[in-house]
Amino acid sequence: MSVPLLDVNAQNLPLAEELEAVFSRVLRSGRFIFGDELEAFEKECAAMLHVKHALSVSSGTDALLLALMGLGIGVGDEVLCPAFTFFATAGSIARLGAVPVFCDVHADSFNIDVADARKRITAKTKAIMPVHLFGQCVNMDDVKALAAEKNLLVIEDCAQAIGATFLGQQAGTMSDVGAFSFFPSKNLGGFGDGGLVSTNDDALAKRMIELRNHGMSPKYYHKVIGGNFRLDALQCALLRVKLPHYPSYLTRRNANAEFYLNELKNVAGITLPSVSENCGHTWNQFTLRVHDGKRDALHQYLTKNQIGSEIYYPVPLHQQECFSHLPKASCPVADQLASEVLSIPIYPELSDTQKTEVAEAIKNFFN
Ligand SMILES: *Cc1c(COP(=O)(O)O)cnc(C)c1O
Repeated sequence: MSVPLLDVNAQNLPLAEELEAVFSRVLRSGRFIFGDELEAFEKECAAMLHVKHALSVSSGTDALLLALMGLGIGVGDEVLCPAFTFFATAGSIARLGAVPVFCDVHADSFNIDVADARKRITAKTKAIMPVHLFGQCVNMDDVKALAAEKNLLVIEDCAQAIGATFLGQQAGTMSDVGAFSFFPSKNLGGFGDGGLVSTNDDALAKRMIELRNHGMSPKYYHKVIGGNFRLDALQCALLRVKLPHYPSYLTRRNANAEFYLNELKNVAGITLPSVSENCGHTWNQFTLRVHDGKRDALHQYLTKNQIGSEIYYPVPLHQQECFSHLPKASCPVADQLASEVLSIPIYPELSDTQKTEVAEAIKNFFN
């Protein structure tokens, strides 16, 4: 049996009838921008995240961009971010004329090394953007202490971590603003692009509401330059169908992780991902570190055995061509991880047979 890295149909098709009914409802309403579905979705997200304001936006990337714009980050401002993450983290900073300052990460959690970030602070540093990578929170106590001491704004990149917790608090609610993604491969996967920003700051929420719609307030009056970062009413309505199921998706991801952690614990040659202290992990990815230069061989072996796996991420951001004009940053742990990491199937609907097949294939490779 083949095991894909992700199977969106296994999650969505059991809801097909409900989703089709929702499409029909929105079609017949004739209301495709803003409206009741969007407002209801935002209310439900705010309740789930225990946050005052949840604003739907066009993608996770636009959520980051809108968050930075709302905080007034602009030309020449330096923003600390991890070197080991998806491109959009730094891309959104650079698109505003600000400068991403790449920080090294921890090998065990894959997350930003706050002590390393501290060393890169200059007079121009305005903000820090921790990324809760693969579904596990950064130690936000460390981030908040540094931010308070150095007077930095904090933007949480929660694209992979909706529902993750640190000391019982939800990702995206422990800082000025959180940014989420509903890209189909994220834990709450939509039907196309989508995202969300979260904040407890009323004034920031008001600015982001305006910026999301061309900085317009009232209609056809523009005091600031915004963009079109709106999420479709249809997308909101469809995501509302999946929202109540989210806790059960998380439970299953955690059970899958537990299975792998137990089955693979004696495999020499790999390091398994770990759960950090005080963290509720959401396992968007289950990422192995493969030692002794064998990562690519394992990747090929799994492919040959019809098991999906992927390298998140092969090139750390301080090594990307588009950032080659920036001062050379040294991030040795990020470099090492980029050569070692391999993510294996962890999606909620994996069957016991499939999980066993994945684990057995990895054991066989090292035998
Ligand atoms: C997916 C992702 C984004 C961007 O989200 P999109 O919805 O794809 O635009 C940003 N940051 C991280 C860490 C991500 O994984």
